[in-house]
Amino acid sequence: EYQPAARVTRIRESASVLAAARVRELKAEGRSIIDLTVGEPDFDTPDHVKLAAIAAINAGETKYTAVTGTPALRSAILDHVESRTGLSYGPLELTIAGGAKQVIFTALMASLDKGDEVIVPAPYWVSYPDMVLANDGTPIIVPCGDEVGFKLTPGALAAAITPSTKWLILNAPSNPTGVVYSRSELEALAAVLQDNPHVYVLTDEIYDEIYFGSGRITSLVSAAPALRDRVLVVNGVSKAYAMTGWRIGYAVGPADLVASINKLQSQISSCPSSVSQAAAAAALSGDQRFVGECVDAYRIRRDVAVAGLNSIEGLSCISPDGAFYAYVKCAGAIGKTTPSGVRIADDVDFTAYLLDAASVAVIPGSAYGLGPYFRISFATSLETINSGLEAIDKAVRALN
Ligand code: PLP
Repeated sequence: EYQPAARVTRIRESASVLAAARVRELKAEGRSIIDLTVGEPDFDTPDHVKLAAIAAINAGETKYTAVTGTPALRSAILDHVESRTGLSYGPLELTIAGGAKQVIFTALMASLDKGDEVIVPAPYWVSYPDMVLANDGTPIIVPCGDEVGFKLTPGALAAAITPSTKWLILNAPSNPTGVVYSRSELEALAAVLQDNPHVYVLTDEIYDEIYFGSGRITSLVSAAPALRDRVLVVNGVSKAYAMTGWRIGYAVGPADLVASINKLQSQISSCPSSVSQAAAAAALSGDQRFVGECVDAYRIRRDVAVAGLNSIEGLSCISPDGAFYAYVKCAGAIGKTTPSGVRIADDVDFTAYLLDAASVAVIPGSAYGLGPYFRISFATSLETINSGLEAIDKAVRALN
């Protein structure tokens, strides 16, 4: 009989992948579900990107590429990173993979041994702790509640660091809260890191283009270039260019770490999809208007979602600075009883109630390591958002 490896039994399946699967299942059963779980843009990949992929297919670019990617994509990424961070990275400091998710996994695989600790501020993107566990590391979860704006403070960072700390994982704009660190907040974290030269930082900036403030968000490496030799900046084309299915992500960082990642990649996948690389190169080096148009649409939806959620008795949320999620506090619903007599003990019960009673699918905060909250995505139409708000309001009013 098949016995899974310990690394499989100690991790959970991704809560967001599970939630999406559950929505598909219910829809297949004929139920109409208001889906606010979606972790990807609802826009179509831009035409010029699709055409670049078709051209690549027609030109026979359908074979293995170098492990490190095609020259066209490599130079498009390095130019893009320089324009975003102000730092110029060389060819040996870049790795490209099948999504930012794969880059993060391989980076952890390349660096963690048993006993190594990885600091993960909560709420966190669902995958970080499980990726650490799968690669023999120990996630050290640091709760960062609304009292600190869902952000890691220098004091909390300093307190979490031990001699075994290998990585700090930062993610901004954050999934699930949408919060962004200011330059001075990054500088304050960098000061703690300066005192702890054994700690590397993985900064996941996959949502950096989806920012509602003015100007651009500051990358950790721009705020603290002195840390550059131990910061891995992760990004990708999934969110900014509505290219989640193309699976291209990348990272820039210290050459020795990147070499280890690429060595593993040579045994894992050989290279990312050649056709997707052509598409990603076109996305990064082509017309950028699409990104701005999406951000304008997300901003309108964010304002509608946040105002609506805050007008519901017992729910509250901050207005996210970026990404396309709102992290909603539902403390007011905990302890109440549903019309069918079930007591709501936590956010898992609450989100199950929303699905059953209101046909609204959202993801419980416990999946992100901080309750009682739930995450909604506003990467969906205003119509869906409005019906979701209405249905949630009605369901909350029905609680006793
Ligand atoms: N990092 C964060 C914070 C995310 O939310 C996601 C996708 O949901 C990813 C990484 C993965 O992105 P990719 O599609 O490039 O693998």
